[in-house]
Amino acid sequence: MKSIILGYPRVGEKRALKKAIEHFWKNNISKNELSNVAKSIREKNWKTQHDLGIDLISSNDFSLYDQVLDMCITLGCIPERFKNLNGLEQYFAMARGLQKDNIDVTAMEMTKWFDTNYHYIVPEFVKNQSFSLNPEKIISEFNEAKALGIKTKPVIIGPVTFLLLGKEKEDGFNRLQLLDKLLPVYENLIKTLTDLGIDYLQIDEPILATDLNPDEQLGIKLSYEFFNKITTNTKLILANYFDCYGENINLALSLPVAVFHLDLVRCPSQLNDILSHESFNANKILSLGIVDGRNIWKNDFEQSLKFIDTAKQFLKKDHIWIGTSCSLLHSPYDLDLEEANKKITPNIKQWLTFAKQKLKEVTTLKKLALNKNDESVAHIFKENQQANKNRRESKLIHNPIVKQRVASLTNADSSRKSPFSKRQQLQRAALKLPLYPTTTIGSFPQTKEVRLTRSNYKKGKISQDAYDTFIQKETEATIRFQEEAGLDVLVHGEFERNDMVEYFGEQLEGFVFTQFGWVQSYGTRCVKPPIIFGDVSRPNPMTVKWASYSQSITEKPVKGMLTGPVTILQWSFVRNDQPRATTCNQIALAIRDEVCDLEHAGLAIIQIDEPAIREGLPLRKNDWKRYLEWSIKAFRISASGVKDSTQIHTHMCYSEFNDIIENISAMDADVITIETSRSEMELLNAFVDFKYPNEIGPGVYDIHSPRVPSKKEIVDLLEKASSLIPYHNIWVNPDCGLKTRDWPETKAALKNLVHSAQHMRERVTELV
Ligand code: GLN
Ligand code: ZN
Repeated sequence: MKSIILGYPRVGEKRALKKAIEHFWKNNISKNELSNVAKSIREKNWKTQHDLGIDLISSNDFSLYDQVLDMCITLGCIPERFKNLNGLEQYFAMARGLQKDNIDVTAMEMTKWFDTNYHYIVPEFVKNQSFSLNPEKIISEFNEAKALGIKTKPVIIGPVTFLLLGKEKEDGFNRLQLLDKLLPVYENLIKTLTDLGIDYLQIDEPILATDLNPDEQLGIKLSYEFFNKITTNTKLILANYFDCYGENINLALSLPVAVFHLDLVRCPSQLNDILSHESFNANKILSLGIVDGRNIWKNDFEQSLKFIDTAKQFLKKDHIWIGTSCSLLHSPYDLDLEEANKKITPNIKQWLTFAKQKLKEVTTLKKLALNKNDESVAHIFKENQQANKNRRESKLIHNPIVKQRVASLTNADSSRKSPFSKRQQLQRAALKLPLYPTTTIGSFPQTKEVRLTRSNYKKGKISQDAYDTFIQKETEATIRFQEEAGLDVLVHGEFERNDMVEYFGEQLEGFVFTQFGWVQSYGTRCVKPPIIFGDVSRPNPMTVKWASYSQSITEKPVKGMLTGPVTILQWSFVRNDQPRATTCNQIALAIRDEVCDLEHAGLAIIQIDEPAIREGLPLRKNDWKRYLEWSIKAFRISASGVKDSTQIHTHMCYSEFNDIIENISAMDADVITIETSRSEMELLNAFVDFKYPNEIGPGVYDIHSPRVPSKKEIVDLLEKASSLIPYHNIWVNPDCGLKTRDWPETKAALKNLVHSAQHMRERVTELV
C-alpha cells in the first residue's frame, strides 16, 4: 500500500511566489532572486510531504505561472509570435503578453481548468505545428528533490488532454491530427525520465472526465499503446479526476498502464463499477482518491475505510494506494496559519483540513487500512470520528427555521407574479426610460484611496463615522457624475465593497472567512473563497443603507446591486453534508429578502449579478440539465419576491453563453447585461436562431482594457445588436463593472457611450 499526492499548492504559504513574481515583473528583483524563492517553496513543499510520510510525492507540479503553459514549453509548442524571445521573458510573454521597445505581442488565451476556479493558458496549434522536447524543468525539479533525499514521481499532462485543451489557430485541420507528431516527443520525454531513474510517471488525463467522441477515445488508446512499446522500467500512473471515467471506462481499463487513479470524492460509485468490470484486472494498482483535494472538510475516516475495505475484497494490499482526489493545488495551504483568526473558532476548526492537514489524513488512512488497530493512529481515528459527529450535530450548522423555509418553497416562490410582457408594460409606465437606456454594471473605479480607507476601517484604524462620511462622499460624487454624464439608470458605485462574494458572505450567517486560505486562480492571482459551513440566513439588511442613500439624492432611478445565489455558492467552499442545490436555495432566500427590502426602501430597479452561473456547469453534458434546473430556480427564487413593476436585472460575464442562452432566458430577469465585447459580440450569433424574449444589454465596450472606445465603435456594435434584437429591448452599457479602471478613461468612455445611445435614439425616431 502506498500514499499518493497528485500535486501540491505552489504559491507559497503566504503567497511568497506571487509576491516574488510580481516584483520580478517590476524589475525589483533579479531572476536569481526569483529562482531562489521558487526553489525554497518547492523544497518546503517536498519536505512537508516527505516528513508527513507520503510515499509518492510529485515533482513538476510546481509552476511559475501555469502547468499547461509549462507543458507547452516542455513540448516545444510555442506560438510563432513568441519565437524571438527566450527564457523567462518568453514564458511570461506567453502568459501575459509583452509591450516593450519594438515588441508588441498579445498573450495566449486563458480559460477555466475543467470545473475549477483555476485558469490555464490555452495551447495554440497551427496546421504545420512542430513539437520538440525541452525537458529541463522536469529534470531539474526531479534532481532538486533527489538532492534532498526525496525520490519524486514527475507529473505531466497527457497528450490527448494537452491537445484537447488547446485551440486551432488556423482553419483546415483538427488538433487531434497532431497526435502523430506529438507522441514521439512524449516518447523522448519518457525515455529521458527513465534514464534519470524515475520509478513512476503520473500522466494527468482529466479529459477522461468529459464526453469524448470516438476519435478522441481512439487518440487515448493509441497514445498509451504507443507508450507501452517504449522499453522502460517506468510505471505509468493514469490520473483522471474531477468526475467519473464514465463512458470512457472501457477505454480506460483497456489501457496498458500500471496504476489507475480514481476521484472517489466526485464519483464514489466508480469504485464498484471498476472492481466489478469484466476487463478489470487484479494485477493493476488502483489509486483511491478519497481525500478531497478541492474542498476543506475533514475526511470521514469511517466512510473512507469502507471504500478501502471494498477494494481489499478484490485487490492485494500492494495494489491499493490511498491518495487525494486531485491535486491539492485547489486547496489552501495550511489550517495552522489561521491560529490568530478569531472567526474560525476551535469548534469550526475541528471540521476543516487544508492541504497540509490532508497529507496527514492520507497517511493516517493508509496506516488504518493496513491495520485497523494501529495504536499509533488510534487517537487520530477517534478524534476524526468525534469531529465528524460534532459537525453533524452542531447547532452552529443547523438552523431549523432556515431548513423549514427551504422545505416549504413552492413553485410560486420562483415565479414573478405576471409574465414578462405584462411586467414590461408596468415597468415602462413606472420608469419612463428613453429608448436604448444607458446604465453601468455597478462598480466605479476603486482608487487607492478607496481601498486604503476600507482597509483602515477594517483594521479599526478609522471610526465608523469617518468611514461612513468617506463612503458617502464617494457615492455622492459618483451619483453626480452619472447625472452629468447623462446616464439613465444610476448605480451607487460599490465603494464599500471589497469582493462581490466576500461583502455578502461577511454579513450572512453560515459563512466564515480565512486569513490565509489563498487558492491560485491564475498566474499570480489568488482568491480566498469563503467557507459555507452552515445553514445560511441574513440577520440584517446588507445593502439598503447605501442604496437608499443614493436614491434619496437623485431624481434618476438608482439600481440596487446584489450578488446572486449561484455566484455566491460557486465562489465558496461549500458544505458537503447536503446537496449544493439546498445550500443554493438557502442563499437564494437570503438574497430574496434583501431584494424585497430594497424594493421597500424605494429602489425600483435591482440587479442580481450571476457571473458564475455558466462555470458551475458539470463536465458531462448529461448532467447539465439537472444543474441548470436547480441553479436557475435558485436565481428565480431570489428575484421573484417583488412587484411586477420592479425591474430585476442580472449580469453575466467571463464566459461564452451561446450554448445556454435558452436557459439564461429562463432566468426571466427583466433585463440582462452581458459581456460580449471582447468577442466582438459573438454572443449575438445566438440570437439569430433564438429570440431572446426579455430586455438585454450586450456590453458595448471592454472594461478589461484602459482603451477608450470611440462613439463610432459603440454605434457599430449597437447597429449590429439592433439587427438581431428588437431595438426597444436593447440597453446600452459597458460589459462589466468598472472597479479596475481609472476615472479619466471611465469618464471618457461613458461619455461616448451616452452619445452613442443618443445617436441610436435619433436614428430610431427618424425611422418611425
Ligand atoms: N456589480 C459588480 C461590479 O460592477 C459585477 C462584477 C462582475 O460582474 N464580475 O463590480
Ligand atoms: Zn461582469
